[in-house]
Amino acid sequence: MDDEVMDMQQGNVKSLALQGEVAFAQAFPDGTLGCELCPRFCRMQNGDRGWCGSRFRKRDRMWAGNHNWLSVLKLARIEAVPLAEYAGGAAVLKVGSFGSNFVPPRDGRSDQGLEAGMGRVLVPGDLAGICRMMVKQGCIGAAFVYGEPLMWYEFVMESAMLLKQCDMQNILATAGFVNKRPLQELVPYLDAVRFDLYSFDPAYYRDVLRMDMSVVLRSLWVLAGSGVHLEVATPYLAGVNDSPEQIESIARFLGSSFGRGLPYHVIVPDGDRETVDREKLLECLKAANQHLDSIYLS
Ligand code: SF4
Repeated sequence: MDDEVMDMQQGNVKSLALQGEVAFAQAFPDGTLGCELCPRFCRMQNGDRGWCGSRFRKRDRMWAGNHNWLSVLKLARIEAVPLAEYAGGAAVLKVGSFGSNFVPPRDGRSDQGLEAGMGRVLVPGDLAGICRMMVKQGCIGAAFVYGEPLMWYEFVMESAMLLKQCDMQNILATAGFVNKRPLQELVPYLDAVRFDLYSFDPAYYRDVLRMDMSVVLRSLWVLAGSGVHLEVATPYLAGVNDSPEQIESIARFLGSSFGRGLPYHVIVPDGDRETVDREKLLECLKAANQHLDSIYLS
């Protein structure tokens, strides 16, 4: 499967009234408004937009420009998230909006680089309703996977609460660069997470992705300790992590921290599938397998 139910790559933002005021905003004595969703702690004057491009200040309030704004909605097998050891054969509605608080590397997947202005208005109740309509097609819930869903926080939270009320499930894909409290408040509504761990090199995280790896690992620990089903994925990127030593360093950390049973995906970008050095890739998978039992090539 992977049927596209709706392609919403058209349309314009119609109504500012449908944008939501954000959580985790803090007023400071110097007149700025601070956002405390992620470790960038953006401070905004009237009219400013945050680093992620999704949150902005208008007069004395902070808003999420992507609230109730859906860029993509597709019905897909859960294996396409990818999740390999959760609800096998089920379908999920993969959804996303714009906004990212890091610089995504070229990884060939369609779930990056969503832009503001592409999509359509859809409220959490509509999303829950569509999920329920799709139950006959095997749909078990929503998968917030495109862009960085944590930059769509209020919509994800509202939707996840509604979906739980409908006995449906919530799946999140994230790079994990978020503050601890917002993540902890969302976790009770999550059922499964695909966590993207791009590298085990703090300098790569700092200089290329523009994230602090220690924060990313803290999020991974929070999720691992929460009871949600967790799988970790590494996009296989030439010159970044395409050596056995680099993949092994990730796998060694995962195995020693969370046990050999943690499912681990090496994702070859769509555009590289024909040209990838298969012998080298096999060496990388073998290196990972020294520390983890469940390795998936996705
Ligand atoms: S969520 Fe966006 S606005 Fe808030 S601190 Fe992070 S980058 Fe800045």
